Amino acid sequence: MISTRRFISYSAVMALAVAVLLGGGVGWAAGRDKDLYLSAKKEYDSLKKANITAANSRRWETLAGRFQKIPQEFSRSPYADDALFYAGRSYQELYGFNQKERTLDLAIKNWRALTSRYPSSPLLQETQYSLGLSLEEGKNDAAEARKQYQALIEKYPRGEWAAKARKKLEAMKRVEEEKKEPPRVSTAPAGKALLTQIRYTSSQSYTRITMDLSSEIRFETHILKEETSKGLPPRIYVDLLGTRLGMDGSQPIVVKDRLLRQVRVGRFGSDVVRVVLDMSSLTGHKAFLLPDPYRLVIDIQGQNDREKNREEVAALEKKKELPGSQKSPKPPAPALRKIVLDPGHGGKDPGALGMNHAAEKDIVLAIARKLAKRLKAELGIDVVLTRQDDTFIRLEDRTAVANAEDADLFISLHVNASPNGNAKGIETYYLDNTTDEASIRLAARENATSRKSISDLQFILSDLTQNSKLEDSITLGHRLHSSVVSLMGQRYGEVKDLGVKKALFYVLVGARMPSVLVELFFITNKTEGRALTRQAYQDALVEALLEGIKKYQESAQVVKNL
Ligand SMILES: [Zn+2]
Repeated sequence: MISTRRFISYSAVMALAVAVLLGGGVGWAAGRDKDLYLSAKKEYDSLKKANITAANSRRWETLAGRFQKIPQEFSRSPYADDALFYAGRSYQELYGFNQKERTLDLAIKNWRALTSRYPSSPLLQETQYSLGLSLEEGKNDAAEARKQYQALIEKYPRGEWAAKARKKLEAMKRVEEEKKEPPRVSTAPAGKALLTQIRYTSSQSYTRITMDLSSEIRFETHILKEETSKGLPPRIYVDLLGTRLGMDGSQPIVVKDRLLRQVRVGRFGSDVVRVVLDMSSLTGHKAFLLPDPYRLVIDIQGQNDREKNREEVAALEKKKELPGSQKSPKPPAPALRKIVLDPGHGGKDPGALGMNHAAEKDIVLAIARKLAKRLKAELGIDVVLTRQDDTFIRLEDRTAVANAEDADLFISLHVNASPNGNAKGIETYYLDNTTDEASIRLAARENATSRKSISDLQFILSDLTQNSKLEDSITLGHRLHSSVVSLMGQRYGEVKDLGVKKALFYVLVGARMPSVLVELFFITNKTEGRALTRQAYQDALVEALLEGIKKYQESAQVVKNL
């Protein structure tokens, strides 16, 4: 928009200058040009005060004609350029009302006349910019508009109108570039989910495929046997129902580990995406959906060498048994070889917050590091941390680490929080379906999800909770829990025992080894929160956890020696 006020002051100055110049009586038809211009300008100012309507649109039209006539009659008048400028403006106003192409053309015609006939007019810059705008937005003529903007920039590079013209050119360039870009993947219509990404974690005996989805879906998994005649490997394929492809599916995702060769993805019908896993050999798999955000996880489980050995031993022992003898004991649990410690949260997710900026993520990382050191040094156990530092790791990637590492135990470390500042103590969880309201609330917090998602998950997980490691998980939970309660109690006074419970923590879903989640005291409790940040207290906690793991290992040995 142009500034009318700027122009008024300009014309006042001009009028004064002309009056002085004309003082000598050298004639412009006795100042008739000035009279005509000033009376038209007065009409313009008065019309401008109200909106243009059907009632006054005729007056605008007449006014434009009056301005237009001045330079025709008085081409050398010092008001000629002003008159052309306002003729254009008046037509522009009218065009805003009637939207007639002809009206806009008249505005452009008057402005073009100004720029060609009065190139040194003080109104030239503003006129050229207005021309550019009308050509760009009114006439949709980008090429002509660009010419006007460029001419303006060349002639008055430092002027304020040149600056505006530059911005216009940049915006036009952006629009052009956007047009060149390939069309984006369409967003799913209502009710359709999008498959946006496929990720994988892979190791010798375990592969996890994660498919990121924009919303909840239904899915079906199928197994196809190897077809040597057709050169097809064994396959597992998953149909994502009501789903569209929101990622590039043109190239297979090559995995090439012991279990999985590659993943192919493609459309199957109008609203089914089919994900095909080309396997190296057919092994067991599990598929489950996690919400917030939705992702479909497929765990492919090979048999690792240790498991094979164990089963062979069990088979041998079975053979030795006489018919009618007692039921064979289950294969003994071996000594602990490797443990994955999972310090909860991290990075953008601080976990629970306490006083003096204490964050759960920092406390549990410190504890995990100390515990790792002692497990290695004193028990000779290999320890892998799901995170070494303050980074964000997705929940499903944490168990994936444990599975890929083929760990013997998975221990997720957390500290608790409550709106009730008096809440205190320790509670330990293993993965299971739960209907306990408080456990659901806690799981919702640790999963960073809503209560509703938990109930969805309950349904989804109903078959996964028939976990073969459930018994061992419960034992591990009890060993760790009672060790912390008794040792910390001896040193710091009675520890509130909140029990060993079951809950639906995503982080434990799909873990192939005994796995627990420990909530070590309340960061929101004044005493416990302060203590948790102290080295000595953390060391004592580490000592207690180490004792708990030792006890678990001993009980495993006892089973072995039975
Ligand atoms: Zn936590």
